[in-house]
Amino acid sequence: MDFKFTPEQEQFRDAVRGFAERHLRDGALKRAHQEEHPWDVAKLMAEQGLMGITMKEEDGGQGGSLMDAIIAIETIASVCPRSADVIQAGNFGPVRVLAEYGTPDQKKRYLNKILAGESVITVGMTEPEAGSAVTDLKTTATPDGEGYRINGIKVFQTHASYAEVMLTYVRFGPGVGGIGSVLIPRDAEGFKQGAPSKFLNGEEWVQTYLDNVYVGPENVMLKEGGFKKQIAGFNVERIGNTARSLAFGRYAYNIAREWAMQRKQFGRLLCEFQGLQWKFADMKMKLDAGQLLLYKAAVNADGGIPSADDTAIAKAFCNQAGFDICNEAMQIMGGMGYTDESLVEYCFRKCRGWMIAGGSIEILKNRIAEGIFERSFSQRPPKISEK
Ligand SMILES: Cc1cc2nc3c(=O)[nH]c(=O)nc-3n(C[C@H](O)[C@H](O)[C@H](O)COP(=O)(O)OP(=O)(O)OC[C@H]3O[C@@H](n4cnc5c(N)ncnc54)[C@H](O)[C@@H]3O)c2cc1C
Repeated sequence: MDFKFTPEQEQFRDAVRGFAERHLRDGALKRAHQEEHPWDVAKLMAEQGLMGITMKEEDGGQGGSLMDAIIAIETIASVCPRSADVIQAGNFGPVRVLAEYGTPDQKKRYLNKILAGESVITVGMTEPEAGSAVTDLKTTATPDGEGYRINGIKVFQTHASYAEVMLTYVRFGPGVGGIGSVLIPRDAEGFKQGAPSKFLNGEEWVQTYLDNVYVGPENVMLKEGGFKKQIAGFNVERIGNTARSLAFGRYAYNIAREWAMQRKQFGRLLCEFQGLQWKFADMKMKLDAGQLLLYKAAVNADGGIPSADDTAIAKAFCNQAGFDICNEAMQIMGGMGYTDESLVEYCFRKCRGWMIAGGSIEILKNRIAEGIFERSFSQRPPKISEK
């Protein structure tokens, strides 16, 4: 067992850091509060080879490993947290499912632009009545000629109001086995969106209405039976959220550390108070432990896809750790930590969202418990005959 990066990984990290220092350090605070997706950063990253890191070269990717993508997202986040969203969108999110399961024609039409930093894809899983219980989704795909008519409502999708295309979870038939996915471009007839609303993290979300939208056979990604594959691909997205939680926690920790070494109260530096030293010790232990869980999930990934168990443990731990660390960093900095003079409050708000998004901490713990006891525990009420 070796806890060190290989020379190639170190070289890659240093190159990413150099890029981030040159292009992203200036303006990091302003960028975090900017409403629009940072398209300028996306273009720069595409030129730098930071999009599609784990994807095949014939698909326009870089042919790297999941660990490489994690090194990239962590390193970018350490300099400009908001820009890590661009790494997520170009490597970990639904783009990864598209690269894994999309047809060559679908990749040509949608993936190329995403990897060029010119568009993004959003994933429509969540519905008003199907959140944690995602397999309860009601959006239907009904055969019509060679294609399907899609009817349903999706909520809470990241990038929803400007994504060029939506990877949409749909129901071709009953039960989990009836779930698959289609690609719906935002200009499709019957694709409508409600008024925008905001998450605490500053991101916009909209309700998307799919009103008898026609999807031709060329835009079907996974037919019925595709749910397992979709969720396996979704574990990559979860790992991106895991990595950002930890990286944002580290970012806030570093700011609080600097602060504690120069801010004086009662004639002493804050870092000299034992009450605060213990907070830092707890933060450091969480960062180190989370790092090991994250890297374990990445190193053990099969074909770039991490296992459900490793992902659940890493995400549940790092989501909580990232949030706790940002929260403590804010406390250590007092009133200043609560202002938008630094990115501590931004990291805090972002980390809070990842405790809910992409499999909430509770749902992940349910998954971990199933692994512990080697059996599944239905979350549904018992049927009358079982009572
Ligand atoms: C920042 C952000 C980004 C998001 N991005 C996307 C996206 O891109 N695409 C998309 O489709 N969706 C997205 N979502 C939606 C997200 O996936 C859902 O919010 C999440 O799955 C929880 O569903 P819900 O909000 O309906 O909460 P509910 O399912 O109603 O859950 C409410 C609470 O009950 C808990 N709970 C539910 N069931 C159980 C159980 N069996 N055991 C214990 N606790 C339980 C949950 O953990 C939660 O705390 C995003 C959400 C956020 C906050």
